[in-house]
Amino acid sequence: MAVTTLDSDKKKNAFKFQRHYALLNHYLRPQMRRVVLMSVLLLAGIALQLASPQIIRYFLDTAQQGGGQPGSMPVNLVRAALLFILAALAQQALIVLAGTTSQRVSWSATNRLRGDLTLHLLRLDMTFHKQHTPGELIERVEGDVTALANFFSSFVVNVIGNGLLVMGILILLFRENLVVGLGMLAYTLITLATLGAIQGLAVPRWAASRQASAEQYGFLEERIAGAEEIRTAGAEAHTLTRLYSLMRNFLHKSRAAFLVSSLASSLTNLLYVIGYAIGLAFGVYLFSRGEATLGTAYLITHYVGMLSSPLQSLRHEAQDLQSATASIQRIEDLLNLRPSTSEVELAQQSAALPEGALSVAFEQVSFHYEDNENVLTNLCFALPAGKVLGVLGRTGSGKSTLTRLLFRLYDPSEGCIRLSETDLRTVQIKGLRGRVGMVTQDVQLFQASLRDNLTFFNPAVSDAQLEAVLKDLRLWDWVQSQSAGLDTRMSSGGLGLSAGEAQLLAFARVFLKDPGLVILDEASSRLDPVTETLMERAVERLFVGRTGIIIAHRLKTVQRADDILILEDGRVVEYGPRVALVQDPTSRFYSLLQTGLEEALA
Ligand code: ATP
Ligand code: MG
Repeated sequence: MAVTTLDSDKKKNAFKFQRHYALLNHYLRPQMRRVVLMSVLLLAGIALQLASPQIIRYFLDTAQQGGGQPGSMPVNLVRAALLFILAALAQQALIVLAGTTSQRVSWSATNRLRGDLTLHLLRLDMTFHKQHTPGELIERVEGDVTALANFFSSFVVNVIGNGLLVMGILILLFRENLVVGLGMLAYTLITLATLGAIQGLAVPRWAASRQASAEQYGFLEERIAGAEEIRTAGAEAHTLTRLYSLMRNFLHKSRAAFLVSSLASSLTNLLYVIGYAIGLAFGVYLFSRGEATLGTAYLITHYVGMLSSPLQSLRHEAQDLQSATASIQRIEDLLNLRPSTSEVELAQQSAALPEGALSVAFEQVSFHYEDNENVLTNLCFALPAGKVLGVLGRTGSGKSTLTRLLFRLYDPSEGCIRLSETDLRTVQIKGLRGRVGMVTQDVQLFQASLRDNLTFFNPAVSDAQLEAVLKDLRLWDWVQSQSAGLDTRMSSGGLGLSAGEAQLLAFARVFLKDPGLVILDEASSRLDPVTETLMERAVERLFVGRTGIIIAHRLKTVQRADDILILEDGRVVEYGPRVALVQDPTSRFYSLLQTGLEEALA
């Protein structure tokens, strides 16, 4: 079985930045123009940030020198002031533009990734879906991708931007004065190291707090979903006690995380103040020795003050990179999973299934789920095209499993299944599922109108077509009896419909598809007489001109079968023409009929 685990600890060590690059490249390339625009805006913003203090220096120095001719209008000063205001406005405009562009970039990229992941998940086979809960997969598609949103947009912007800003400031400081440059370089390195160290303290505490919160939510979700059981068992008090202990844990973990974070932010402020003081000291020192003008002294102080914000951003980005790396790893693991039904390798030699009814042959088929024991062992039977096979057996004998193999939700562990002489493994899955119709024990309904539930949201199916099919199946009257006919809203999970009614809808779905083989896994619950009659008539119409396999729980449906196969613990214990078995008092089928099928199979 090709499904690997999602556990990725080992691979994490081998993680290289090529993957970050590959991901960025794949999802950003289609919007290259926007990315370029974003980069240009960003660079322009940095240039403006670096240039503004230069204008102020010019202003200060000119003012100090008398600001032009005494008595006349200080034209230069006014110009400098206007230029400064313009620069400030432009800077704000650039921030807004760059922000919007980067949001668009990140949403386009992450939405494509969400789409890719969802499609991938839908294609993975049932073995995978049995191993992973919907909640876990939603977290994968939503949580991990959202964690990457920042990576796609502001990460590159901020890392490059802030990196350039810090470098720009340092270069300009070096240009002013070598000692100042060296001093501030040292300050930068020390600040980065300190911030990194604090982060090392804060991150695990936040992770613990998030874990505690997840536990609390998980507990609440489970208990609310099981409200009925909790009430009947009178377990409210126990539930609350457990909830209190989870909340207490959450409180303690959050408090610890908050404390460390507060300390971190105080320390950051302290570093900023120290930096500013050093800058001020440098400025005053140089000015007092006459080595710098007032403007230059201001310039140095201002640049030093500017250093702290990009340094802090860089620290945030480093943290982001860590979580993005973890997310990328998890997403990649998921995308690397291949369906174990190995369609891919055999797709080249894919054969088309013929029109009309399909014959079915099982040749010594054995099957087990994952590493468990065999659920089906050495299954053999041959069903000619157009005939109907009735499958009987106690609960858990492997009947539904047999149908899953036919639909290729799984592949047999041994042996071979043929449809019209063609090995199932050489048939393309899409073609196969178009030619095989299946009505399962639990029919999935979607929160949509009855019409959409029947057509699977395919607008090409007209109401007239639907009406014809439903009339053919003699379900039209039933549809009419629903509150709003075809527009009646269904709720997901089929709430408000009986198991039998849900199956009736599934019949109509299958009928619309017009397959060559129909598999019917009958609902084992008892049906009311009206639904029972509807069902019977629908089954009758459904099997005209088609091969059928019915997993039967009711006498009426069994009577429609040409052949009977009885399963016990995944083995065939009886197989033959129904008519012959009915007349043979030594057969199991005969005694089943005597006891009453419903009772015997219950
Ligand atoms: P019923 O009449 O109750 O519908 P069934 O004959 O359809 O029963 P199957 O659903 O085929 O029974 O199950 C046969 C056996 O395989 C059971 O023992 C069941 O526990 C096991 N089984 C079914 N589905 C899975 C799965 N996804 N993973 C592991 N074991 C499974
Ligand atoms: Mg079943």
